[in-house]
Amino acid sequence: MKNLDEYKTTWENDEVHVDVPFSAAGVGTTIVLTSKFTGKIMLLDVGDGAVRDLLISLESSEFINEIDLIAISHGHFDHVGGLYTLFGFMRMLGREKPLNIIIPPNCKEAIEIIKGFRELHQETLPFKIWYHEISPGSDFDTDFFKVKAYEVEHYSLEHATETEILEPAHGYRVQIGGTVVAYTGDTRLCPGAEEIVTDASLAVIEATHLETPKSTRRVHLSVEEAKTLGALAKEFMLIHSIPKLK
Ligand SMILES: [Zn+2]
Repeated sequence: MKNLDEYKTTWENDEVHVDVPFSAAGVGTTIVLTSKFTGKIMLLDVGDGAVRDLLISLESSEFINEIDLIAISHGHFDHVGGLYTLFGFMRMLGREKPLNIIIPPNCKEAIEIIKGFRELHQETLPFKIWYHEISPGSDFDTDFFKVKAYEVEHYSLEHATETEILEPAHGYRVQIGGTVVAYTGDTRLCPGAEEIVTDASLAVIEATHLETPKSTRRVHLSVEEAKTLGALAKEFMLIHSIPKLK
């Protein structure tokens, strides 16, 4: 992974700045939405290295107070691996406002990280961390971000069975002013993924595979499939490629 710029992308309009400081499959993905009206920040997934990437992108640690909401797409390590560090960084610098995190129902990895951190630091944690297991089709609104969750099909390879098991996995549509940012999370082609991206101002779409695999047991989208989905949105960006190791 010599050229880290390949894993970074940004987009903006008058209302929102969208920054993907780093996204690679099996390594980490973090998406940063910043409202230009309020300066408030929402994170979509918190991959490993998120604190480092936020410090580089924003050139300040002020984000610890500006993060209003976090939405986790699913519990795979490359999407939740940075939560523990982010909580630790916020605790160290004394965040006081409660932190809300929305997750798919039964997203065990996120729940365990949150519970573990809260328990370990219960005497000295200056802010509350709340998680909300929201069902597909549900809304979660703050004063700054209006979010709707959609179920996507993210087949899980880690179970030792031939039976197809899907991860609890969401994609999200986030409204900021008149702008809608859609995020597929990890998915194969499915009705949920289409619904998420349709007519969005910007669709952030995972495009892990360079070629469309023949297998029916599909975990991720290919670039071709992601572009087909992207055509349903006004604009799109592709993320979550497989890292090039040579
Ligand atoms: Zn995944």
